[in-house]
Amino acid sequence: AARVLTEDMKLTVIGCGYLGATHAACMAELGHDVLGVDVDADKVSRLQAGEVPFFEPGLADVLRRNLAAGRLRFTTDHRDAAAFASVHFLGVGTPQVRRGYGVDLSHVESAIDALTPLVRGEHLIIGKSTVPVGTAAALSQRMAVLTAPGSRVDLAWSPEFLREGFAVEDTLEPDRLVLGTDPDDEDDRAEQVITEIYREILETGVPFVRTDWATAELVKVSANAFLATKISFINAVSEICENVGADVSTLADAIGYDARIGRRFLNAGLGFGGGCLPKDIRGFMARADEVGAGQALRFLREVDAINTRRRSAMVELVADAVGGDVLGTNIAVLGAAFKPESDDVRDSPALNVAGQLALRGASVAVFDPKANDNSRRLYPTLAYAQSAVEACEQADAVVVATDWAEFVHMAPEELADVVRARVIVDGRRCLDAAAWRSAGWRFYAIGGPMRA
Ligand code: NAD
Repeated sequence: AARVLTEDMKLTVIGCGYLGATHAACMAELGHDVLGVDVDADKVSRLQAGEVPFFEPGLADVLRRNLAAGRLRFTTDHRDAAAFASVHFLGVGTPQVRRGYGVDLSHVESAIDALTPLVRGEHLIIGKSTVPVGTAAALSQRMAVLTAPGSRVDLAWSPEFLREGFAVEDTLEPDRLVLGTDPDDEDDRAEQVITEIYREILETGVPFVRTDWATAELVKVSANAFLATKISFINAVSEICENVGADVSTLADAIGYDARIGRRFLNAGLGFGGGCLPKDIRGFMARADEVGAGQALRFLREVDAINTRRRSAMVELVADAVGGDVLGTNIAVLGAAFKPESDDVRDSPALNVAGQLALRGASVAVFDPKANDNSRRLYPTLAYAQSAVEACEQADAVVVATDWAEFVHMAPEELADVVRARVIVDGRRCLDAAAWRSAGWRFYAIGGPMRA
């Protein structure tokens, strides 16, 4: 296809959270001229000052390098976006609605409503947010009435698959790129634009899946539903292992050697959380209902139930470990983020467990290397420590709730004289059980015995 655009492409990224800030910085890294837009003025001024408003390894370097090179800037004003470029990525949030399983599309709609009437000439919006199938078609109709006479705004959907903790790497070296466009439009303009934007990435041979809106939207939620199912599968098996004294980690190794199964994402433990998997499987179920296929995804309810059951099971295990009741005990909870290398505490299993323990009357001290501040905002009544050692002072049990490397590699001897009782509960099956036991600790792991 003929190149429709020149080398120095201009583009905007609307919504500069985990996804959008990373995308904006990485697009600039590819050499493009990028404007990031967010309604959060504080976030915009921090990004403009070269400060990443959340924890993401490596992102600050990319951000600062491109700010300094003059290829990247941020604004709160959608008018700047309309004037700056004719290609706009959309990465605003799509949280779960407050009541029910559905997806709250109000941020996506307000971004579209703000931008569309302002643009003149031919523009392209490329949605990256995770949305229910049918969203692009509905937004396209919404845009039709907002577009200025004589102008044209196309809509494509290119879902994002980045993992927090690896966001820069995943954006610049994705497993695949997916592009969905209007099935009734023969025009391949969106494909040409995307090909130009991602040229450097595509030249490395990354698979490029070209499809319609609905398929592209479904690819994303299906991928997350599969990953959630894989985690809940091994956690369901771990419930049986617990009852019969079998070792689910050894089992996962053994079944994982089968390439059809694979060992990744097969770790039993506290289960999944964060701003994506839980709300994405719920949103998927809700939309399946709406399109008359609710029965197809009924199993995802069970996936969700298995997952949330791990959190209560963990609380029971901690209670067992301290003699049956946590009331009046001191519990150290190490980890608050939903996974290591992230400060994201949205629907975090670790914080949920900390909260449940506090509700049962334990004095809980939480420590997370990066997520203390976010946690305090969500659970202001818990106590937060400045280090793992401080959290463990006078503890009746130490709970590892997020598998940060610094917890995985903790020396049992170092904590031995800090705690009141040498009791450790491994919620991520990430510790060296033998090392803890031989240092005189009583060792418990969610999902049953851990053989050394
Ligand atoms: P986030 O909450 O960190 O960021 C969303 C941003 O959008 C916020 O900064 C918010 O202020 C901004 N915003 C809201 N309305 C706006 C508007 N009208 N105009 C401009 N900005 C606006 O969320 P996130 O984690 O970055 O997720 C964004 C989307 O990406 C979601 O659909 C999510 O499911 C998807 N996603 C996230 C990840 C991830 O790992 N975080 C991975 C893949 C996909």
